[in-house]
Amino acid sequence: MKTVAVVLAAGRGSRMKSDARKQYMMLRGRPVICYPLAVFEQCSLVDEVILVCGPGEEAMCREQITEKYHYNKVKKIVPGGKERYHSVYEGLKAAGPECGTVLIHDGARPLLDEAVIRRLLSAVKDCHACVAGMPVKDTIKLSGEDNYAAKTLPRERLWMIQTPQVFDYPLILSAHQKLMELESLPAQITDDAMVLEYMTGQKVKLVEGSYRNIKITTPEDLPVAEALLNGE
Ligand code: C5P
Repeated sequence: MKTVAVVLAAGRGSRMKSDARKQYMMLRGRPVICYPLAVFEQCSLVDEVILVCGPGEEAMCREQITEKYHYNKVKKIVPGGKERYHSVYEGLKAAGPECGTVLIHDGARPLLDEAVIRRLLSAVKDCHACVAGMPVKDTIKLSGEDNYAAKTLPRERLWMIQTPQVFDYPLILSAHQKLMELESLPAQITDDAMVLEYMTGQKVKLVEGSYRNIKITTPEDLPVAEALLNGE
């Protein structure tokens, strides 16, 4: 069975305050999306990559990203959807029945490293569903409606969740199929583990990611990513 990475690049990046989307912004001379694609290309544990892009961007991604930089493991480029989980579902369907394990990764996380992939792929053999994450460093408060602190959450049990998120393929595919059949969604779904949490009884294990594995979300993240890459 194959290990397939689904790399998401169909977001619109509304928090970037710019028309250019974060996954295509230039970082040390290359679009951000090139960095995770290069890591998967070089990782011997990953057999294939599915790139999920914005509808209508397939040819641009093929010509200006995968062919130009020779990411030969990218076997399919498929259009994503309105919400992240729609994009994931398109990627999962494209991965196909020969897929045994799937890694779902944000294209906007250029500082992925192979050690994180190895830890996740090792963990998923026993736990079937795991996500990269790191303990939070700051105190986290829940706000009330009026922006006064309503509650301080216990820091020792809080993790920032990252990607990759790694699953037995049939498990995450069927959870998404069930989600798509719902008429109304339980809450805003911001990661893949949430789909499992809502739609199945499957527990999701938290595996050590990396504090470097930041997501480019707001304009100040780009120089931070550049500094981290320069420090390598
Ligand atoms: O919006 P957020 O920062 O959570 O996006 C994380 C990743 O999911 C990004 O790489 C983005 O391109 C992708 N995404 C997607 N389809 C969407 C929304 C987000 O592929 N509809």
